[in-house]
Amino acid sequence: MGESQVSAGPQRGTYGPGARIAVLVPLPLAGTYDYRVADGMEVGVGDFVEVPLGRRQIVGVVWGPGGGDVDAGRLRDLSARLPAPPLPEASRAFVEWVAAYTVHAPGSVLRMVMSVPSALMAPRLARVLALEAPAPEIRWTAARRRVVDLLIDGPPRPANELAQEAAVGPSVVAGLVHAGVLRAVELPPPSPDQPDPERFGVRLSPSQAEAAEILRTAVRGGFAVYVLDGVAGSGKTEVYFEAIAETLRLGRQALVLLPEIALGAQWLRRFSDRFGAAPAEWHSDLGVGERRRTWRAVAEGRARVVVGARSALFLPCPELGLIVVDEEHDPSFKQDDGVAYHARDMAVVRARLGQLPAILASATPSLETVVNAQTGRYRLLHLPDRHTRTPPPPVTVVDLRSDRPPTGRYLSPTLRAGLAEAFAKGSQALLFLNRRGYAPLTLCRACGFRVCCPNCTAWLVEHRMIGRLQCHHCGHSLKTPDRCPSCGQDDGLVGCGPGIERIAEEVAEQFPDARYAIATSDTLTGPAAAKLLVQRMEEHQIDLIIGTQIVAKGYHFPLLTLVGIVDADLGLSGGDLRAAERTFQLLSQVAGRAGRADRPGRAIVQTHLPEHPVIAALATGNREAFLAAEAAARQEAWLPPFGRMAALIVAGADEAAVDKAARALAGGAPRIEGVRVWGPAPAPLALLRGRHRRRLLLTAGRAVAVSAVVRRWLRSTPLPRSIHVQIDIDPYNFL
Ligand code: ADP
Ligand code: ZN
Repeated sequence: MGESQVSAGPQRGTYGPGARIAVLVPLPLAGTYDYRVADGMEVGVGDFVEVPLGRRQIVGVVWGPGGGDVDAGRLRDLSARLPAPPLPEASRAFVEWVAAYTVHAPGSVLRMVMSVPSALMAPRLARVLALEAPAPEIRWTAARRRVVDLLIDGPPRPANELAQEAAVGPSVVAGLVHAGVLRAVELPPPSPDQPDPERFGVRLSPSQAEAAEILRTAVRGGFAVYVLDGVAGSGKTEVYFEAIAETLRLGRQALVLLPEIALGAQWLRRFSDRFGAAPAEWHSDLGVGERRRTWRAVAEGRARVVVGARSALFLPCPELGLIVVDEEHDPSFKQDDGVAYHARDMAVVRARLGQLPAILASATPSLETVVNAQTGRYRLLHLPDRHTRTPPPPVTVVDLRSDRPPTGRYLSPTLRAGLAEAFAKGSQALLFLNRRGYAPLTLCRACGFRVCCPNCTAWLVEHRMIGRLQCHHCGHSLKTPDRCPSCGQDDGLVGCGPGIERIAEEVAEQFPDARYAIATSDTLTGPAAAKLLVQRMEEHQIDLIIGTQIVAKGYHFPLLTLVGIVDADLGLSGGDLRAAERTFQLLSQVAGRAGRADRPGRAIVQTHLPEHPVIAALATGNREAFLAAEAAARQEAWLPPFGRMAALIVAGADEAAVDKAARALAGGAPRIEGVRVWGPAPAPLALLRGRHRRRLLLTAGRAVAVSAVVRRWLRSTPLPRSIHVQIDIDPYNFL
């Protein structure tokens, strides 16, 4: 594709000079604004245009015919049409749908689509040198010959590259230009290498082949949602690669959402092995230039496969034919800030709007997805066992009340013995604890003072490696004090409870020869660091990884045979309705890292609650029983997915004003059959980044259109401008 699609097709409709059109701008405003198409200009729906707004110029999207009540004579003119492909119809419909559902302004959603404003400008052309034909007569030297030979065999390239590759000085190249042998031309940036669907993949097992065939057929059909359910290592990735291949054969684009792209080093390598080219990547770690190139390549249809974090869902793919959400249960698909959305659910919406299939893959599908499969809304494809046929690792539950670690230590005798055995066999191990830093709480032995964040309802976490106390919510940090800030006692402060760094200290003391690496968001700061970790593990330069949830997904380490879960109870406390489900998913995933190749593995789970259903399900591997019990409990309480929820978080700098606003909202709560409003209550983080926060929770039956109810509720309750209300439909995080 290219320029031909940039000009408006008949179905888009075009507007000539004088026409009144509606433009949506990427700001949190209520709707579109009307403009007049300037003389000599022609635009179509979806075109990116520059418009005057107040005193500034802003880029927006032509949304349709204008319909506002501004006098035609007072309409302002469009300033310019930008040289970018129009926003596809499905993307426009998606913006509106997401805005209506999440109860946010369409402009706020459009802003997520237009995340790289510079990509809307014409791409910079590269200045390269090409051979002039016929070449004029000149005096030939060996150096000049080398330059010309390079261009006879290869593509035009920039002067500096040419000089470097031919091993000549810049003056030689300049001389050839001067003599008229070489000519400067401007070229668009090179297109990325295209993934090739016909390269050979693995030979699929019969059950994998069956699933792949169903998905290939699905890619040729319209909207449908498939759940690809199978334990880690069962070949889900190989199977959805076949669906991607089919999408490419049909000339359409594929989008893959992954939880943490920084961890995708192994995924990317597998993709390149299978398709002979890298996919386009989309995640927060990209530089501005890469973002601009990728956005543009996607919008122009030059990028055929995009893999990215949740925000990739808002890329303007013109020819989308498939969406895959891998690890669909992963909490990172939920965005809480700004437009609060769940990328898995919105991926299904995007698929429906574009009439294309979505594949949700997981070893531990969310209860939402399980129920959707049971009721027939989604189609279930089950991959029965690990491809390698190593059985899933047996789980040993350690009851910390009897199998006790020494005082002030955190590894039980059983776990220590397990580590010793793994190291003795030349295997690798993983210790999992979902807590960064050294100690989650620092208190004074003399006066009992606890070091808290001044901006948040939270303790400061000690990070001993850098000698600081940090708030994990707002980033507030200070040098670890020598004396108690409250009573002044010297050396009075002690760290309480374990964090990753403290486990590392214990390991170093117990196993001085073990080579370990700490893997947290503090150490794995980007793809390069993740890649290095993978490499060091694969080359067996490390015996042990001590890590948080950052290592729970996506990795496949053949020599890793032991997984030790230091504290299985960490996620179970607190009022989160999904606490049990999430803990089960996370711990199964972590345990599943053990023994993925020819070496059998085992998992050791330390807990104070051995009878808890989550621990029992892990120990017996009986996921279905756990899910059934969890579903029954939620159904009884009308909790999601059997009921609906919306959260309102009222926030502001002035506590009294926040309380007043929260009470006003509670007073104006909708009185509708089947709808209840709870609160206001202080949010668990009642103070966050210096803002006071109160929560209201709305619960409703499945049939209630919650978004519309919430929209009416807010409209009917005027609040001062100093108060911010964050709306979260289907909340996942109750902070
Ligand atoms: P999942 O996505 O379910 O965790 P993967 O697709 O990553 O499973 O497969 C796990 C490992 O097994 C990968 O290294 C993959 O290449 C390999 N594998 C899966 N199926 C096959 C197969 N049919 N033939 C050869 N290797 C396979
Ligand atoms: Zn803080």
